[in-house]
Amino acid sequence: MKPKRLESELQDVGTFSHPKQNLEQYATTPALATKVLHLAAVEFGDIEDKSVIDLGVGTGVLAIGAKLMGAGHVLGLDVDVDALSECKENLEMYEPELEVELVLMDVIELIRRYDDYDEEESDESDESDDDDNNNGDGKRKDYVWPKADTVVTNPPFGTRRKGADVAFLAAAMKMAETAVYSFHKTSTREYIQKVATKKLGAKSAKVVAEMKYGLKNQYGHHRKDEVEVFVDVWRIQPTCKMKRDGNNDEDEIFEQNLRELAANIEELQLSARERKDKHRSKNSNKNEEY
Ligand code: SAH
Repeated sequence: MKPKRLESELQDVGTFSHPKQNLEQYATTPALATKVLHLAAVEFGDIEDKSVIDLGVGTGVLAIGAKLMGAGHVLGLDVDVDALSECKENLEMYEPELEVELVLMDVIELIRRYDDYDEEESDESDESDDDDNNNGDGKRKDYVWPKADTVVTNPPFGTRRKGADVAFLAAAMKMAETAVYSFHKTSTREYIQKVATKKLGAKSAKVVAEMKYGLKNQYGHHRKDEVEVFVDVWRIQPTCKMKRDGNNDEDEIFEQNLRELAANIEELQLSARERKDKHRSKNSNKNEEY
């Protein structure tokens, strides 16, 4: 699909109706999504017929774009039920409905629990106002991560929750067989390079596109209407390949993990709607974080 066509197909993808500041919910614009996905598909062959995970899928613009560019199985993960149900609505808008599997998952919690990644060192993100850095030491390494050829993520930049950007990157690298596409603030370029290659053992880590990201004032805490943020798009190749090679035990644990984490999206949609209605009637003209 040509870039112009993809961008116009993505125009109607709904964005967060009540963006949550603590989750850094900023939707990727159709133009930026197109730029990244086109690059990944055409320049690197990482989308067509490939399995794709969208980490922090939000309302789904990257997952939808990947599907439209010919991806095979697409899995979208997010910690926010409301975002997942809005994503589901976006998928239903297409005729026929686009198939993207949606799973409720707290990526940061997972990496905390199941990896030896040391959060303490990831302290270069700005404006930390987080509190619970208290991981304990009982990390398990036997978790079987969901896997895909390609992982795309527009992660939280770590402005609200310290280290969220790197936690996402660490999780993405656990999940990707071939390549991770991840967005990071240009101001953290050197740091990301170091973390990706030295700490997370990437085979390669390159900035493949630079973008100007106009963050709309959707929360009311920015003084200006729009703040410009310079963002790098990274293509990172993870090293250690733990291919799921038909080993039954592993497959079974994987399925079990997914079952445990998967939520029934229809039910979620229902309860999300109920909550939204309540929220609306209680709080009709507030646009604050909640
Ligand atoms: N991929 C979407 C949304 C990006 S915003 C897009 O490009 O438009 C970042 C997303 O990460 C949000 O949807 C937010 O809910 C999600 N997120 C934040 N913290 C998370 C966590 N701990 N686990 C999973 N998802 C998380």
